[in-house]
Amino acid sequence: MNIKAGTVYLVGAGPGDPGLITVRGLMLLRQADVIVHDRLVARELIDEVRPDAEVIDAGKTPGAHRYAQGWINALIVDRAQAGFDVVRLKGGDPFVFGRGFEELEACRSGGVECVVVPGVSSAIAAPAAAGIPVTQRGEVRSFAVVTGCVAPDSPSPELDYRALAAMDTVVILMGRSNLPEIAAGLLCAGKDPSTSVACVERGTMREQRVVKATLATIASTAEQVSLRAPMVFVIGAVARHATTDAINDWASIKSSQRANFQVG
Ligand code: SAH
Repeated sequence: MNIKAGTVYLVGAGPGDPGLITVRGLMLLRQADVIVHDRLVARELIDEVRPDAEVIDAGKTPGAHRYAQGWINALIVDRAQAGFDVVRLKGGDPFVFGRGFEELEACRSGGVECVVVPGVSSAIAAPAAAGIPVTQRGEVRSFAVVTGCVAPDSPSPELDYRALAAMDTVVILMGRSNLPEIAAGLLCAGKDPSTSVACVERGTMREQRVVKATLATIASTAEQVSLRAPMVFVIGAVARHATTDAINDWASIKSSQRANFQVG
């Protein structure tokens, strides 16, 4: 007898605060037979799964990949082919530096249905949690989201600093280790050394930390205050709005307003 295949849901878990998953994502998470999750996903979300669900931590630590991407692809396809509904829970949005498309393609080649549930990306949410708008009417009309960490097999290992210098706002993910090169590259491309820079470490999480500097000083500031991943850098005039006040603090929202959507 043929088993009816399950579905793989690529679900964005949001940037860190468990309240920032989507309603659809949470619903699917509560129903799933199998959950395969990333390292940066909030613990409170994993507490939401069915008691009999299979939970697999596919988290990777920086530099030391615990599981190869191919292994994860094979795992989700295998479980779905065995008839289980799988939630592949990924940090932020699955398609923003998340390798989500590789997982979608693996499902397609395995003949498995795959549904994408977008998430709130740290690229926008971490700045927002520090009070930084990535655009501003009349002043800032463009933003670019860039990885500071280029894949070793990439055909273009250098960032296009001239193009980036022309953007109003640049948001850098995975930028900690290459920060000195990135700042120098933008300065060489003509970006003003006094351009505001903000770093948002663990954005939307309880331990959120915001550090302000300029393009000329950010590399040394990052060393002085021991900035640590996960973090985003925001480079551009809007970064001057960075505040250390909690803008996006779920815990401070009145419990009556949290109603039925309480997570964490
Ligand atoms: N798909 C994710 C990004 C994955 S790449 C998304 O859409 O958010 C991982 C990088 O995201 C980290 O190195 C860091 O630069 C950024 N990041 C993820 N969560 C973050 C957070 N809570 N605060 C700041 N940066 C975060």
